[in-house]
Amino acid sequence: MVDNYSVEAISPTGELIWPCLLKPDTKFDEAGVYKTKLKVRADDPLAVKFQELLEKVQQEEHDRQVQEAESKKKGSGKKVRLSDMPREETEEDGVGYLVFNFKSKASYTDRKTGQTVERKTALFDDNGKALTHDLVIGTGTVACISVFVSPFYTALLGAGVTLRMRAVKILKLMEPPALQAKDFGFSDDEETLSSNGYGFGSNFLNDNVRPYLKDRDRTDLIVVHCSATDPKEDIGKREITQWHLKRGLVSIGYHYVIRRDGSTEVGRRENEIGAHVSGHNSNSIGVCMVGGVDAQGKPSDNFTEGQYNSLRVLLGHLTTRYAEAKVIGHRDLSPDHDEGLPGWHRRSCPGFDAPAWFYNEHDSAR
Ligand SMILES: [Zn+2]
Repeated sequence: MVDNYSVEAISPTGELIWPCLLKPDTKFDEAGVYKTKLKVRADDPLAVKFQELLEKVQQEEHDRQVQEAESKKKGSGKKVRLSDMPREETEEDGVGYLVFNFKSKASYTDRKTGQTVERKTALFDDNGKALTHDLVIGTGTVACISVFVSPFYTALLGAGVTLRMRAVKILKLMEPPALQAKDFGFSDDEETLSSNGYGFGSNFLNDNVRPYLKDRDRTDLIVVHCSATDPKEDIGKREITQWHLKRGLVSIGYHYVIRRDGSTEVGRRENEIGAHVSGHNSNSIGVCMVGGVDAQGKPSDNFTEGQYNSLRVLLGHLTTRYAEAKVIGHRDLSPDHDEGLPGWHRRSCPGFDAPAWFYNEHDSAR
């Protein structure tokens, strides 16, 4: 289950240990559950950060529970304990490791239709290419995992977090020993699973099989970006999605893409939290204009009239639906965020003064 307080994250890179499908997971999940451990060096800065994120989500859940108890009964002083982390610490040859436990249900119930839907976690290779379902993954496979850090609370265990696996990016595949394939691979389990087994394959971009992205509860900003591509490059949602998968995102980070010919493509659902601007993804919509650099790769306001027309229409709709939201360019936000792009990009993206363009146009139209 992914609730409102889950946080999307990418794990540090490490070794998978015992990736397997337990079917059924006797107590809680009749349909079964995918499990793996991920072993990372304890001194890896990303591992430290990841651990801090887990602690933060847990602490927030703890505070929520305390608050809830207090609001029911003033000053009840409810004690909420902290559950164990989904993590162990080990040491090998004098090197410390953290071992994180990931899992993912093998099916879920669609809230609208009440039907049971098979859930598969996407598998990608190093280049962001979707891998087929018949892949058998063994212990020692080097990977990082796209995950929801989901808080939970039970009276018995207290406040804790679980790591709900969504996609696995495989950097180096280790096949399990043949005899153990059934136990240790994300392999098909003929008895109980369809022949598709594990992995999303090409369906991954289909909305039906990725129902887990969290919705925003606020929309304060509409952030205009550019794709930082040469105007001759006729790219769109498809290509940008590939780049973003490569960077470890679960899908395209923008909500809208406006192509060179002025056509508008829908990326993420409009309500979903995007992945386009650090620090503001949970309260903004991201719109990407294709183009924005010249042949030398320098920032350039080289968008077509069709693109500006479409942007005007789109922003008109959005500012009507989100009356409190301000239109702003990527560069108008904190210059030191990390979008994985060269520094000049975030300082100049989208290559023109978006708020001045949008609001001045509106003023003069009145
Ligand atoms: Zn940008």
